[in-house]
Amino acid sequence: MADSSNPCRRIFLALSWSALAAILGFQVEPALSQVLEGGSARTRPEAAQRLGGGPIRPPQFHEMAQGQSPNSLFITCSDSRLIPSLITRSGIGEVFVIRNAGNIVPPYDLRPEGVTATIEYAVAVLEVPKIIVCGHTQCGAMKAALDPTGLDTVPNVANWIKFVEPARLAVDELHPSLGPKERWLELVRQNVRQQLTNLKTHPWVAARTATGRLRLEGWVYWLENRRVVHLSLP
Ligand SMILES: [Zn+2]
Repeated sequence: MADSSNPCRRIFLALSWSALAAILGFQVEPALSQVLEGGSARTRPEAAQRLGGGPIRPPQFHEMAQGQSPNSLFITCSDSRLIPSLITRSGIGEVFVIRNAGNIVPPYDLRPEGVTATIEYAVAVLEVPKIIVCGHTQCGAMKAALDPTGLDTVPNVANWIKFVEPARLAVDELHPSLGPKERWLELVRQNVRQQLTNLKTHPWVAARTATGRLRLEGWVYWLENRRVVHLSLP
């Protein structure tokens, strides 16, 4: 039973997320309030600082075991250098997560498919009010989409990367003179936009966004400086 007079419990409840993270060995994002857009810096102090808003509560594990009510669905890459809870500064139970190579959302299809089923559950059952698609710099999936050499030995990867093809075509059409590094980065951005477009083909997403009960956002996480870029959406 909880005992607020217990000095150890009082100390634990008073700990900030930063202090908890330090104790647990995590590095908390120091600069997510610095938001970049298309290479030019601008500040949006609250935009990416704390996805759920308000302070992070210390974990109440007994309460959390009764159910979940996440404030967003976060779709990002499987890259091991990304830790969604640190990128979004979220606590336990706050963010529902889908991860795969290239943060891809296949267009809606009735065939059984994990990403589609998880989106449907998050939107229709958990009723998340926000979906974020978050790409990242140095993404190997985007590099493979630009140069598929060698993918013939990994046919499932090759098939999966095909969902990036519309984004690659858009980059080459809109930015035909980019050098290799800039083209790679632009594909990261364009792919996020493409996957958000695909997301809108999912019936529950279309219905909830049409009535204003669901908002979509596109982010790019910069591994180099641990900043989040909010993309403008079409
Ligand atoms: Zn990646």
